[in-house]
Amino acid sequence: MGLVVHNTLTRRKEPFSTVEAGRVGMYVCGPTVYDHPHLGHARAAVAFDVIRRALAFLGYRVTYVRNVTDVDDKIIARANEEGRSAWEVAEEYTRVYDEQMNALGVLPPDITPRATGHISDMIRLISDLIDRDHAYVVGGDVYYAVESFPSYGKLSNRTLDDVRAGERVEPDPRKRNPLDFALWKSAKPGEPSWPSPWGDGRPGWHIECSAMSMKYLGGTLDVHGGGQDLIFPHHENEIAQSEASTGVDFARVWLHNGFVTIDAEKMAKSLKNFVTVRDVLADYPAPGVRTLLAGAHYRSPIDFSTAALDDGLAAWRRLETFGRNAVSALGAEHPAADSANGEPWRGKFVAALEDDFNTPEALAVLFDLVSTANLLIEEVERSGSEKGARDLASYLDTFDTLANVLGLSPTRDWPDTGGRASDALAPLVGYLIELRQEARAAKDFARADAIRDRLAAAGIVVEDRPGGPRWRLA
Ligand SMILES: [Zn+2]
Repeated sequence: MGLVVHNTLTRRKEPFSTVEAGRVGMYVCGPTVYDHPHLGHARAAVAFDVIRRALAFLGYRVTYVRNVTDVDDKIIARANEEGRSAWEVAEEYTRVYDEQMNALGVLPPDITPRATGHISDMIRLISDLIDRDHAYVVGGDVYYAVESFPSYGKLSNRTLDDVRAGERVEPDPRKRNPLDFALWKSAKPGEPSWPSPWGDGRPGWHIECSAMSMKYLGGTLDVHGGGQDLIFPHHENEIAQSEASTGVDFARVWLHNGFVTIDAEKMAKSLKNFVTVRDVLADYPAPGVRTLLAGAHYRSPIDFSTAALDDGLAAWRRLETFGRNAVSALGAEHPAADSANGEPWRGKFVAALEDDFNTPEALAVLFDLVSTANLLIEEVERSGSEKGARDLASYLDTFDTLANVLGLSPTRDWPDTGGRASDALAPLVGYLIELRQEARAAKDFARADAIRDRLAAAGIVVEDRPGGPRWRLA
């Protein structure tokens, strides 16, 4: 069969091939670190974590690069609001992002370049684009000339005219074409800046990814990934920059993950309908959240709701329970596994992944294995059959290998994010919150406040929301 992937560039599924046989260089746009990540960010991180694990499982040697955008308008705006430096803001939210993705079982990339560590690479690339007449200097700014790149729009499948009509861009007398975008922005007072041939300033967002991806993976990446919202303009601009400089294809395959939606609308900071990873992990164990995110096909939207989270958690509990029961049934004399037993499931699992990383199908195969093996657990416990135990050991072995491809192995040491603690605390805290509501209804505000303060002292934060009070571990 072989791996088939949906390439955004060609808009169809095609056989996967790489520049160098057996090796994959994969670049995925990482976070802009200015706030707590929301579920949309977690979804992208988990989707590409699974794709990376799946490629390795299918036999490729993967080099996975995911950047950190640690200089950006939004970081600077946040720093100014809070009266601290952009460096502090970026440092804090880089750490928060890493911690929360680790909680969700996302493996660290092989290389995590920070934009601020690669300014000289960006300056070199911008200079090259100016030399090749793809970019021009206005004052201390440098713009990319979109009309100099005839295939601009090929990823989002639009012509320059389509884009102009669709995006309602403001005319700007400094630009040759309103769609020209900044490669270098001249320094404003109080902003981080670096010296350059065009004066002090900082890079634009798009050039960061072109410079960092090509530095670590060469002129042609095997896979470039990101959220669907990055196709235009970000990835379109990355192609224009990189290909205008190198003259070769920038990426062989473009993979884009679907949105997380709430009431069918995209979750985004700009729309203010986002749910942070921190809030979700306060209410739900991380493996349950991971099961929801990894169990959806990467290109499909995920409609977020408590029902969806409950389903994810229930699915996770089935995996976890099987792992625990199988280990307990096998006892101390855990027999050696005979891998041939798990072969049919392994084969189906591989076929699912080879079909454009079809994780819902892969997860279904895993559950099918669990159903079969659960029957065997009963038999082994009833009869003590030695052959049954050997078979069960094989199933458990295959189960663990396959579950780990999705990042859902129960034997992994999942960090405690509070979600499991909240399971046990829920009835108790719920009762105290009820008492507080009663006190408020009786206008006994001193008592209501005292209850809230006692909870706060125990590390439990109560927030009054439109739908009623909610609580989380601080
Ligand atoms: Zn990017």
